[in-house]
Amino acid sequence: MRSLVYSVAAAAVVFAAVPAFARPPRIAVHGGVISRESIQRSPFGKAPDGAGVDLFTLTNRHGMVMKMMTYGATITEIKAPDRSGKMGDVILGFDTLPEYVKNSPYFGATIGRYGNRIAGGKFTLNGKTYHLAKNNGPNSLHGGKKGFDKVVWKATPRMSSAGPSIRFYYLSRNGEEGFPGTLRTTVIYTLTNDNAVRIEYSATTDRATPFNLTNHSYFNLAGKGLILDHVLWLAAHHYTPVDATLIPTGVIAPVKGTPFDFTTPTKIGARIDELKGNPGGYDHNFVLDSHGRRFSLAATAFDPSTGRVLSVYTDQPGVQFYSGNFLDGSFAGRGGQVYHKHSAFCLETQHFPDSPNHPNFPSTILRPGQRYHTITVYHFGVR
Ligand code: BGC
Repeated sequence: MRSLVYSVAAAAVVFAAVPAFARPPRIAVHGGVISRESIQRSPFGKAPDGAGVDLFTLTNRHGMVMKMMTYGATITEIKAPDRSGKMGDVILGFDTLPEYVKNSPYFGATIGRYGNRIAGGKFTLNGKTYHLAKNNGPNSLHGGKKGFDKVVWKATPRMSSAGPSIRFYYLSRNGEEGFPGTLRTTVIYTLTNDNAVRIEYSATTDRATPFNLTNHSYFNLAGKGLILDHVLWLAAHHYTPVDATLIPTGVIAPVKGTPFDFTTPTKIGARIDELKGNPGGYDHNFVLDSHGRRFSLAATAFDPSTGRVLSVYTDQPGVQFYSGNFLDGSFAGRGGQVYHKHSAFCLETQHFPDSPNHPNFPSTILRPGQRYHTITVYHFGVR
């Protein structure tokens, strides 16, 4: 079985020209365990189209682990310390690739070309109407039938000075899933030595096209049970209300006096029953107070039982807070754990859903000559 280990020492030889690797291997001792920054690569099966899929295991200086596979440039596992220093699962996932292909509701995946919904699966750009696959009732969701979450990305591992890192690349052809333009997309995932997952997205196109990337990790900072006792804070005084098919009405509404007000830390479950609809729960875009004009703290989530705190930083104008409403116990994930409604939450940093059909929303149109470039950081701390 092919399995490659990129340790800091090995990287020092391979990337001798890079000053960061001239340093001696970084070895840290935590609770008697010696950990060394490393990247390990191993085969993870074949995608439905026969392409080989690889799984990478990234370990940082503190022994924190992130696993990622080339199918969907997907984070399959993150192990982060609790308040006693014990590493544990903080995201939902599966043990095998076939389970991802069969059951995954976008667990940990890189989402594109367009994160979230486009109403009626259509938009008009430069006088031309484009039709997308309707893969979510009457709408298009997360890039269509075969979005970026279902393609095999080219991966280049690298020991960066910030921590172990993977550069994913995907070339999406003009017309793919109905979208115009040939797009070259690079997403660099780094497990930093200060216990954060840093995601840097960039892309160029040869024709104007809507573009809105995100990562779809489902967090449960306790590693089990429901997330209703997690305490959430959002830097958002406004949100975008939706219709019955989860398309924004176009209104930018204040959260004050509603169950959407997380401007002071509040348990996710505190007011969730006030949200009507089927299946009920949070599945809304929050308008960040930064309006995407600066890189800043957008959200924190705290699990009182383990002390874990997730802090989300982004330069994007919105974050989709989704409380795992469609998880219904119909499949089991990692270690046979069955995922029920509200077993996890997502904080998907991005532009607003259905922006191509809402001229009052910040534009998501990427044009030739421009470079799409955005950064999101998920930091794991304790309290
Ligand atoms: C959407 C949800 C959807 C989930 C999984 C979220 O981004 O807002 O409505 O169920 O992704 O597809």
